Amino acid sequence: MNSPDYQSIANDLKALLKGEVTQEEVDREKVSRDTSIFYVKPEIVIYPKSAHDISEVLKYVSSKKAEGMDISIAMRAAGTCMTGGPLSQSIVIDTTKFMNKVTSVDEQFAVTEPGVYYRDFEKKTLEKGWLMPSYPASRELAAVGGIVSNNSGGEKTLTYGKTENYVESLDVLYANGEGDVLHAFSGEELKQKCNEASEGGRIHKAMYDLVTQNYDTIMAAKPTVSKNSSGYYLWNIYNKETDTLDLSKLVVGSQGTLAAVSSITFSGVKPKEHSRMLVMFVPSTVHLGEIIVRMLSHKPETIESYDDHTFKIAIKFFKDIALRMGGNMFTLGLQFIPEFMMVLTGGVPKIILMAEFAGDTEEEVDDAVTKCYEDMKSFGLPMKKTTSKNQAKKYWTFRRESFALLRSRMKGMRTAPTIDDIVVHPADLPEFLPKLDEIFKKEVYKDLIYTVAWHMGDANFHIIPLIDVHKEGIVDVLHLLMDEVYELVFQYKGSMSGEHNDGLLRTAYLSKMYSPQIITLFEQTKNIFDPQNILNPGKKVYGDKDFAWSHVDKQ
Ligand SMILES: Cc1cc2nc3c(=O)[nH]c(=O)nc-3n(C[C@H](O)[C@H](O)[C@H](O)COP(=O)(O)OP(=O)(O)OC[C@H]3O[C@@H](n4cnc5c(N)ncnc54)[C@H](O)[C@@H]3O)c2cc1C
Repeated sequence: MNSPDYQSIANDLKALLKGEVTQEEVDREKVSRDTSIFYVKPEIVIYPKSAHDISEVLKYVSSKKAEGMDISIAMRAAGTCMTGGPLSQSIVIDTTKFMNKVTSVDEQFAVTEPGVYYRDFEKKTLEKGWLMPSYPASRELAAVGGIVSNNSGGEKTLTYGKTENYVESLDVLYANGEGDVLHAFSGEELKQKCNEASEGGRIHKAMYDLVTQNYDTIMAAKPTVSKNSSGYYLWNIYNKETDTLDLSKLVVGSQGTLAAVSSITFSGVKPKEHSRMLVMFVPSTVHLGEIIVRMLSHKPETIESYDDHTFKIAIKFFKDIALRMGGNMFTLGLQFIPEFMMVLTGGVPKIILMAEFAGDTEEEVDDAVTKCYEDMKSFGLPMKKTTSKNQAKKYWTFRRESFALLRSRMKGMRTAPTIDDIVVHPADLPEFLPKLDEIFKKEVYKDLIYTVAWHMGDANFHIIPLIDVHKEGIVDVLHLLMDEVYELVFQYKGSMSGEHNDGLLRTAYLSKMYSPQIITLFEQTKNIFDPQNILNPGKKVYGDKDFAWSHVDKQ
């Protein structure tokens, strides 16, 4: 492979595009990080103005790759990925600068460019009475292109599932620059699509053959946990009974490794008007599994939680939390008195569990929360029922803002997402949790500080170590921790990632989660879509652990 002359590539691309092409240090530096532990600096940053611009870049890059040049692209939305997904040494295409418009919204669907921040998108859909309910906890920071490409989930996923459920169709650009609209095709329409003399036709035909010829192997490999972002979701794309193929279900969650997304058509749900929260203060993980299983039987809309470390950090940075909540600092201070007292008296519970019930009337939610409250009394633990949405706000702010706070405020320490997103079956929690605890009790992890926030209803854990990257041997400790925790997760047929995805961080571990046949099918899928390996290489397939860990952010 030849080393590219990026100066002349930038000049060529400037002549081709309406958008901006830059090699400025400030732009390259800005996109060299996401919220993972990695730092990878690209040579060129592109801010496209349209799908046509992205197409031109892809055509150019594929022609250069065909000439033997070592060149590739990574798509980027808001850069909040926790796995190094949008990082590249070569070219980064950032859609948030110009491709940030919601094209149309009606009562059922919204069509949007990928660089629209979720917070802006939601305002538009709420005006029409609905929302896309799989928004992540990073709802104020993330953009829809990333949410789709990571197949994100969040606090409402327990009830509504992940982003894959709300993508109606995707406008994509394949690696050779050709465009296509991905949605479900069946019957005659599918035949026509597969016979189309286009890149889209070739890819549909090849993927149809791949899934139909390996149908049983693929279906048997489907992770049975309630949420999964790891691997390519080959099990979601073909319905044998109706002979329907939908490649949008494959591009969702593929981290820009199969195609670049230039437009998304979303559907959503009408949000429930009323909600009530039951907060439970749990002193240890001993009975947590049983508590969750019992809570789930009451069908709350969400069960979220965070641990004592997160709680103490949130109290320490109370001012930031209060600012994020908005409102009068004094009134907020009064609201937090019970929490201050817990810290002062050493009475901080190990886990704060939040079960929220949603409904169409006040009576409905009051009734649901009261029934759950009465039932949970038998555990003999302190509990609180909120009486308004406002009362629940502080718990939500702690839960949603904790990771961002940790990243920005812990001096000398940085967050190290590594085992940040494991997921098992809720029914396995009573057995799984003590085993997880045993791992953390080992001598090698005794100095490891970490916080835990859970999407508890899905048994999806965000365990985030806080590390001094300069400490000798710390990376080895993280590797060992990943090996041990993932092994335990796989014993329980869980997934390494419920929602954050694979990226640089986890791709090399996919061969431990899936069988060699499935890994081969993942590679074949990649080769069908992107035969030259120019779309975000090293993510989802052909992971290179050495490359990833030689790019740890030392800042
Ligand atoms: C405080 C905090 C809380 C978080 N909570 C959650 C959570 O609850 N649930 C969750 O799922 N995640 C969570 N995350 C992780 C992250 O925010 C989400 O995965 C988010 O959806 C990523 O969106 P983004 O716009 O930042 O995407 P980016 O980081 O820019 O990109 C993510 C991936 O998508 C690809 N991509 C981006 N745009 C395109 C495109 N147009 N075409 C093709 N590929 C593209 C990128 O290459 C990359 O691989 C959290 C992160 C933070 C910092």
